[in-house]
Amino acid sequence: MNIAIIGSGLTGSLAAISLAKAGCRIDLYERLSDEELIDRDRTYAITHSSRKILQKIGIWSYLESHLVPFKYLNVIDYELNKKFEFLINDLSISDQKYSAVGWIAEHKNIMLSILDIISDIENINKIPTSVIPNTNKYELIIAADGSKSNTKKKLKTPSLNFNYNQMCITSKVLLRGVKSNEAYEILNSEGPFAVLPLGGDLFQIICSQTLEKGNFNMSLSKALFLDYLSTILPLGVEVDTIIDQPKSFPINFILNYSFFSGKYLYLGETAHKFHPVGGQGLNLCWRDVDCLTRLVSTPLLKNNYSIIPFIYSLSRLVDVLSISLLTDSLVRYSRSNFNIFCIPRRLIFLVLRKSAFTRKLILNIMTNGL
Ligand SMILES: Cc1cc2nc3c(=O)[nH]c(=O)nc-3n(C[C@H](O)[C@H](O)[C@H](O)COP(=O)(O)OP(=O)(O)OC[C@H]3O[C@@H](n4cnc5c(N)ncnc54)[C@H](O)[C@@H]3O)c2cc1C
Repeated sequence: MNIAIIGSGLTGSLAAISLAKAGCRIDLYERLSDEELIDRDRTYAITHSSRKILQKIGIWSYLESHLVPFKYLNVIDYELNKKFEFLINDLSISDQKYSAVGWIAEHKNIMLSILDIISDIENINKIPTSVIPNTNKYELIIAADGSKSNTKKKLKTPSLNFNYNQMCITSKVLLRGVKSNEAYEILNSEGPFAVLPLGGDLFQIICSQTLEKGNFNMSLSKALFLDYLSTILPLGVEVDTIIDQPKSFPINFILNYSFFSGKYLYLGETAHKFHPVGGQGLNLCWRDVDCLTRLVSTPLLKNNYSIIPFIYSLSRLVDVLSISLLTDSLVRYSRSNFNIFCIPRRLIFLVLRKSAFTRKLILNIMTNGL
């Protein structure tokens, strides 16, 4: 099958590898150079669903050395002043043997490895342009050109869009008082924030807050920003140094009403973009890739490729919708007016602290999707 992929971000690139390994001929269109693709300062939480996909494609061993495993995921509700932990025991038996609740990856490392893998695969042809000269030569065209997709605009595919009126501030810091294999998801009224281990004392802070507060914090000097971080980190955790210049990006919600248009199929952030809480973004994108690869490899569909976009769209519905609801609920939970929602909030937290079954259920949805 001849497939064009527009966009060589982490979704488009993994789709190229996975589909090429399934026997397809891939033309991978990207307007940026490899250097520009690598040079992004992002940090991803990688779940077991991604681990399984990378193993299936046969590239887990190349990437694993760039990932920092964490064994504890502490969830703290600042308004309730309560905490519980997701532990390895909360995972399914088959996931437990990897001794990690999840992994943290820096964009530069995994993008570089993935581009290296692509350069070794014969049936991937990289084309450094944003325009496909002849769309007729492809049975499928995959739009993986990101949340501002031009392809989607051109095809006039409608989507549900809204703004959280929040921004995300990210920064690398050296911390004391945290184990190098523990991560935090902290829920407070400004918005959720995460502390992710990057090895040793180095951690990534991903902090969402109102635009007003975020803009103010972005205008602070490093020393004052460090003081601010000290006020929001959990008790006993202290910031030694801020390693880089804090960066910010707006947070919005995008969900396409359809994941295809004719022979065009939308993958990754072209189809869905959610709040970064819970670290679902990239994992959901890679589950899109896995689903498409399974369909393309199905013997019955190999000669009926025109129905693949429709079946793909149906197959991804439950997983994408459930993650959109889960992440959106977490944001609303975190920002809910504590005075009004005090009782349900106490109840939800109590259930999660006391019920191993509920913890396992939530962690397994977050780690493997539906
Ligand atoms: C500023 C920012 C920060 C983020 N930080 C985090 C984070 O900390 N943690 C996390 O888990 N997730 C984060 N995300 C989300 C995460 O980056 C995505 O989930 C992940 O990169 C998968 O994206 P993608 O490949 O679908 O899209 P993208 O990474 O956006 O890739 C799309 C690619 O398509 C290319 N392209 C666009 N138009 C064309 C065209 N016309 N022709 C050819 N190529 C084209 C672009 O150059 C780009 O390379 C962040 C996203 C953004 C925008």
